[in-house]
Amino acid sequence: MPDIHRLVVVGGGVAGVDIATHLAGRQTALGTLAVTLVDREPAHVWKPMLHTIAAGTQNIFQQQTSYVAQARDHGFLFQPGEVAGIDRAARRVSLAPLLTTEGRELLAARSLGYDTLILALGSRANDFGTPGVAEHCLTIDSRSQAMAFNDEVRIRILQSLVRDSPLGIAIVGGGATGVELAAELVELAELSEHYGASGAVKKVRITLLESGKRLLAAFPERIADAARRRLEKLGVAVHTGTHVTEATPGGFRLQDGSLVEAGLMVWAAGVKAPDVLSTLEGLDRARGNQVIVGPTLRTSRDADIYAVGDCASLLPAGQDRPLPPTAQVAHQQALYLTRHLPDLLAGRPAPDFRYRDFGSLVSLGGYDAFGSLGKFGFLKGWFIRGRVAQLGHALLYRSHQVRLHGFWRGSLLWLVDRINARVRPSIRLD
Ligand SMILES: Cc1cc2nc3c(=O)[nH]c(=O)nc-3n(C[C@H](O)[C@H](O)[C@H](O)COP(=O)(O)OP(=O)(O)OC[C@H]3O[C@@H](n4cnc5c(N)ncnc54)[C@H](O)[C@@H]3O)c2cc1C
Repeated sequence: MPDIHRLVVVGGGVAGVDIATHLAGRQTALGTLAVTLVDREPAHVWKPMLHTIAAGTQNIFQQQTSYVAQARDHGFLFQPGEVAGIDRAARRVSLAPLLTTEGRELLAARSLGYDTLILALGSRANDFGTPGVAEHCLTIDSRSQAMAFNDEVRIRILQSLVRDSPLGIAIVGGGATGVELAAELVELAELSEHYGASGAVKKVRITLLESGKRLLAAFPERIADAARRRLEKLGVAVHTGTHVTEATPGGFRLQDGSLVEAGLMVWAAGVKAPDVLSTLEGLDRARGNQVIVGPTLRTSRDADIYAVGDCASLLPAGQDRPLPPTAQVAHQQALYLTRHLPDLLAGRPAPDFRYRDFGSLVSLGGYDAFGSLGKFGFLKGWFIRGRVAQLGHALLYRSHQVRLHGFWRGSLLWLVDRINARVRPSIRLD
């Protein structure tokens, strides 16, 4: 029997599904890589588009990639389920029972053995222990949450029209998620009017609350200012330097005691890695629970465990801040491991991971987009906006699809989207 090396990838997001797709069946000095991908969702969605799924301006069923189908096409195994714990000594990953939405057990709790484990579990918003957030706020950190948000926002818009009362939507967090969601919700209200929801634009009142001095702290100031002006022009009330102390059933309580009233509250601030990483006893973790990795993305104390993307913390040599939790970093780290993991497993030298900052983009729905072109490339440092920036944003997603499905299929998917945009409703109506 040929030698097999069991590679388990937990988390099939931007980084994980790419790694499983490209490493399955690869020959290494330790044997053929038998790859198993674990995810708690049945399908992969490019996370930077979750706000569009939440608003219903993109159709989840057109944009998602089924893990089972991807596994069949690329020769890896898919294990559905929530990672509940990782036992480093036994080299096993335990999965919680898989339940239907009604709570029926589909699969019992299981555990999987690994020779090498890649952690790609992403991150979620961080409420920093703010009272009431868990009870009263929605988040859009996962495919299921984005779908649940969309169900809720459509019901609330209908109710507000039927009852002839305003619908306040308050979003905490002026990072890319909050800013992009605010714009997308404006677009949802506007597009709803085309389908008979007349008055929706006036009824839906969106407020964006940010504790920092400005929006988009990770972006250049020029982009933050331009995005704020555009949001305000779209009717979004933007409040910076505003600290939320509590989420109540009626809205967000601020530090000065006032209440920002809202019928729908969204928490999109802060970033932290999943709690399950705390079960990894003995590994170094950063403040947001991310696993600390070295320059080859190997965890600092366990040569059999690597971590990538938002759940990893890598401090590049000579810098004073770890890499940011972005799709760009996750993508480049996935690329690095698909190229170099076979050498790393064989104990052969591999270059250190080097992040190349190609810039950052923020998209305000169909209205506008802003970006800067980063520290690499021909036009480094340039500021872009409008159609060019929107195209840049779309290209990030399309290149991810090409990585997953190949050039022809990825291009066909793009074409299908263009056709659907012409022949199907522009928002989810069912
Ligand atoms: C609305 C929104 C907009 C964004 N826009 C941008 C942008 O414009 N540009 C940009 O660079 N970045 C953007 N980001 C950030 C970007 O999406 C993340 O940095 C990127 O997705 C990280 O990739 P990842 O592979 O580390 O994790 P993810 O893509 O989040 O994947 C993690 C995977 O792990 C799975 N998982 C998590 N916990 C468990 C568990 N316990 N058991 C089993 N499976 C689990 C999840 O289901 C998911 O499939 C945005 C994020 C959001 C939410």
